[in-house]
Amino acid sequence: MIVKAKQFPLFLLKLQALSPRVRPHHIKQTFIKEDLARYLAGYKGENAIEYYLSFLTDDEYYILHDLRLFDGEHYFQMDALILTKRLLCILEIKYMAGIIEFDTDFDQIIQMKNGHEKAFPDPINQLQRQKSQLNKWLKRNNLPQLPIQGFVVFSNPQTVIKSDDKYTKNSVIKSHTLQSKITELHHQYKDDILTQKEIKKVTKKIMKSDIPLDHSVLEQYQLSRSDILAGVFCEACGHLSLERIHGYWICSQCMVKSKDAHLAALKDYQLLFGDSITSNQLKEFLQIECSSLATRILNSVAVSTKGQNKGRIHTLSNK
Ligand SMILES: [Zn+2]
Repeated sequence: MIVKAKQFPLFLLKLQALSPRVRPHHIKQTFIKEDLARYLAGYKGENAIEYYLSFLTDDEYYILHDLRLFDGEHYFQMDALILTKRLLCILEIKYMAGIIEFDTDFDQIIQMKNGHEKAFPDPINQLQRQKSQLNKWLKRNNLPQLPIQGFVVFSNPQTVIKSDDKYTKNSVIKSHTLQSKITELHHQYKDDILTQKEIKKVTKKIMKSDIPLDHSVLEQYQLSRSDILAGVFCEACGHLSLERIHGYWICSQCMVKSKDAHLAALKDYQLLFGDSITSNQLKEFLQIECSSLATRILNSVAVSTKGQNKGRIHTLSNK
């Protein structure tokens, strides 16, 4: 049963809003575009495992995607967590192409792709850390101490995995074996630890404790407001920026007109700068001069308003 479904991640929405709005020729532009492509591929990889997880029978396996919990000292993230009456199983999903060789001597994996070698930290170490943090989290929340297992799942079917180490071989799997590996793991434990009622209690507690990462993408890339392009994008040709004429946004490139192209721009604003906006900030970002138009737009999109006159701060609706 899927308790928490996979959603398009907030940080990817932020990156998608950021990428076309970084000033042309900015030193970080290529870097941000590459990050976006890489994270999108990763998301695609995580999505691909949903198909294989769907074979796990409904009443025995409780699946939660994308969790971020606090262990009392640090936050930790899990791509997926599977809960049964007998155990917890963490999945760390990797969407990497090429040949992946595990080097246990140096706790690294080496990716060989297009004639190049690149090293990354061994994901099994990360999995071990997640296991101990999840254990700590269970204790902190006075929940039953279930055995915690986990797999590093390579979700790209073309990836070739190489390892001589027995432990690595037991911890690393390809996504098409997910169902059999998880079922096998569940049956290695003979005793039920949780009742049906306790399963509900644990999943409810996990859902309540899940705190998605909501960081500033500008801070992450050390960008300032002046690095970001203002304006309303044309939905048809991508031109920036549209002009507001007689109640319509008009594109000078393709002549397409739109009544509500500002909504996408305000979504970008919210993802990049947060939920609060003043009338002047809105005018600057949409590149409009008319205060009454700004007020009309704010009245249609803001969920709440506080303060007086020029200092009035409006809160944009949920992301
Ligand atoms: Zn256009």
